[in-house]
Amino acid sequence: MKQIKTLSDAELLSQTRNLVSRERELTTELLWHLREVERRRLYAEQGFSSLFDYVRRGLGYCEGSADRRISAMRLLKELPQIETALKSGELSLSNASALQHFFTREEKGKSYSETQKNSLVAVVTGKSRRECDALLAGLAPEPARAERARPISATQTEIRFTANQELMQKIEKLRGLLSHQNPNPSYAELFDMLAELALKRLDLEKKPERKPAGKPATLTPPAEVALPTEKSRNIPQALRTQVWKRDRGQCTYENNKTGVRCGTKHLLEFHHIQDFSVGGQHTLENLTLRCRCHNLYAAIQTLGSTLMNQYLRE
Ligand SMILES: [Zn+2]
Repeated sequence: MKQIKTLSDAELLSQTRNLVSRERELTTELLWHLREVERRRLYAEQGFSSLFDYVRRGLGYCEGSADRRISAMRLLKELPQIETALKSGELSLSNASALQHFFTREEKGKSYSETQKNSLVAVVTGKSRRECDALLAGLAPEPARAERARPISATQTEIRFTANQELMQKIEKLRGLLSHQNPNPSYAELFDMLAELALKRLDLEKKPERKPAGKPATLTPPAEVALPTEKSRNIPQALRTQVWKRDRGQCTYENNKTGVRCGTKHLLEFHHIQDFSVGGQHTLENLTLRCRCHNLYAAIQTLGSTLMNQYLRE
């Protein structure tokens, strides 16, 4: 472990990549082993009630991990040709598992031929889990259930409703804009933050004395966003809006060697390209949007890692 600290950055990145590739190969090997344990019913002999029980209690995986491994194993058993995609990581364990659940859930009313299964595998290969879920849900849509608000205790109410695509996009955008308050809110926490904001605006008892001129500025960063330091507080609102619009509300950091661009909409801050401390100005050219991680990264480049390290890794 000590040796890790002596590696160069390039060596560390290359070894990490190597480990990921070995991990995927091992996981695929594990799936074949689980298949054989199941075929021999060894889990029963070992005192477990099912393969799932064996993987969970016997091998120590949590329920989600056990389920992903077993369902991916079933898909691999049926379509052994997916092995290459699993090993390369093009087909993630989680997408393989989602596909298997989809095929078995659908089996009651509808069955899929091997060709159909293979073409669906091809469609979800290289996709994120969220994209995969959306794709599968699109193939077998469920009817929306009626809205409901149900008291579940003296002080709590369970609320259920169905959001359409537009609302989900708005919710995603709001999550990004409110990420400074809470980086990963539950729906209840998000709803609470939105209720506070709406009440500040609408509730006369909560409204501040001074009324700002009501201008509808959809892309204007709200007051909650990007106020990490004293210096950025002084950036004039009009300029903040210009920067925000030009950068399309995303982190603009890009690795100039790999071309990988961050693009996150979470925890955004205004970043001075030439640092404020060395005379960088509040100008459109000198300002850009960066997420907190990339703002810190820039600070390390400017201030040196010794000073910043105490805030970061350890
Ligand atoms: Zn970033």
